[in-house]
Amino acid sequence: MAKLAAAPYVVIGAGMHGLSTAYHLAVSLRERGLGSGTDVVVLEKAHPGAGATGIACGVVRNNYFQPAMSELMHACVEVWESDPEAYAYNPVGYVALGPKAQEPDLTSVYERHERIGYRSELIVGEAEVDAHMKAMFPDWRAQGVTICLHEHQGGFAFNLDSVQGLVRKCEGEGVRILSGIEVTGFELGPDDAARAVETNRGAVEVGEQVIVAPGPWAQRFWTMLGLPSTIDIRTPSGDVMRDQPMWTYWNLQEGEIQVDPLSYATADGGAPPVIHLDTDAPLYTDDGRLVTDELWGNYFKRDRHGVQGGAAPLTVEGDVELDPYPSTTNVDPGFADMWCASLSHAMSRFEGCRALYKDARSGGVGSFTADNFPVFDYLKPNVYAILDSNHGYKMIGVGREVARVVLGDHSSLLYPFRFERFATGDLHPVSNSPYPWS
Ligand SMILES: Cc1cc2nc3c(=O)[nH]c(=O)nc-3n(C[C@H](O)[C@H](O)[C@H](O)COP(=O)(O)OP(=O)(O)OC[C@H]3O[C@@H](n4cnc5c(N)ncnc54)[C@H](O)[C@@H]3O)c2cc1C
Repeated sequence: MAKLAAAPYVVIGAGMHGLSTAYHLAVSLRERGLGSGTDVVVLEKAHPGAGATGIACGVVRNNYFQPAMSELMHACVEVWESDPEAYAYNPVGYVALGPKAQEPDLTSVYERHERIGYRSELIVGEAEVDAHMKAMFPDWRAQGVTICLHEHQGGFAFNLDSVQGLVRKCEGEGVRILSGIEVTGFELGPDDAARAVETNRGAVEVGEQVIVAPGPWAQRFWTMLGLPSTIDIRTPSGDVMRDQPMWTYWNLQEGEIQVDPLSYATADGGAPPVIHLDTDAPLYTDDGRLVTDELWGNYFKRDRHGVQGGAAPLTVEGDVELDPYPSTTNVDPGFADMWCASLSHAMSRFEGCRALYKDARSGGVGSFTADNFPVFDYLKPNVYAILDSNHGYKMIGVGREVARVVLGDHSSLLYPFRFERFATGDLHPVSNSPYPWS
């Protein structure tokens, strides 16, 4: 089959990770006198932002219980803050609220923030949390919340605008982004290294390295590279869990209410921080129906056309037809009732907001690893994979670290995410959050 132009560095996928890697690689090649962006080609089967990056709620936060996640996120926020305009980044902060059961986790997250120099504030006690929230939102009314981690860094970014910002940065460095090129396989040499990337438009010869950043299509690439669908996992206690599925899918449920965005502001008229509320208080609809009396959670932020957010994701059984993304996903029919009730539970300004719910397909499928944390590692001698386990719109800095690794440096930030951790038992600690990404 005819070959497309060869490239020293072939990046697959034009989402957050592929584009950030391509850009940072181009900059590093230039700065080190090793080449330039013209040595980097991005292959994208649809168009930039066609995957999870283009539908992400865009929340950027560092509420991570796992030390390695927290340190990596600190570096990522640094990248967001380096060019807020290009990345369409809104540094409005992030507020995590929880019940008693989450006090130890949020306290240790806060203590780590202090150690690593990430600006946040911890408020403990029901009355204290209530006062803190009422100072920002006088109509705050969620009861039984006893802990609040208020990050004064973080916030959110506009998904497709940040993609366009990255595309412009890539193109400014001379990176070629080829849309409509679908990768179908790899031609491996006797040393197991990739010699060429096979596509629907012919093969692309690989001069140096391939960086795979496929988002929800991670399992497809895992299979293309001949890796096993199940793995053994050594737990920190030394027990081995045999034949665990390497990949699972979750359906992320998100939605939006159409209100004047400026009606959702802080008491002084400012932009509200992103809110994430977990609580065990019973949740009722505005007309008094019990939605749940078990632990539930929501998150929400001001968007361009209203208020946008979501709730805990749902696991999806078995394999998933991902294309066309994300239209094949099913949102729980009760989601709109639950999410609108949860907004009203938090603030009285949202009372009656169910009528303003935008009835459109929202959310999408995410692909998760066996322990729900990213795998950032070489899967073949010259094939580096960024498999973010759906953590990663916020992880804009991973591409910067990957560029370093690809050029021969060590990244202590990425090292804890190597695939080998499943065999050695160097797993990340698990929090008390109901979400697979905390
Ligand atoms: C509904 C939803 C909300 C989310 N909200 C947030 C959030 O608020 N904050 C946050 O941090 N994270 C969020 N995430 C997670 C985040 O969106 C993803 O982790 C991140 O965007 C993944 O980026 P990526 O570059 O790895 O993948 P993607 O953005 O999916 O990019 C992968 C690209 O690869 C392309 N591709 C796939 N297969 C091939 C092939 N064979 N050949 C060529 N190209 C191919 C795709 O078309 C796609 O453009 C959310 C995810 C979902 C689904």
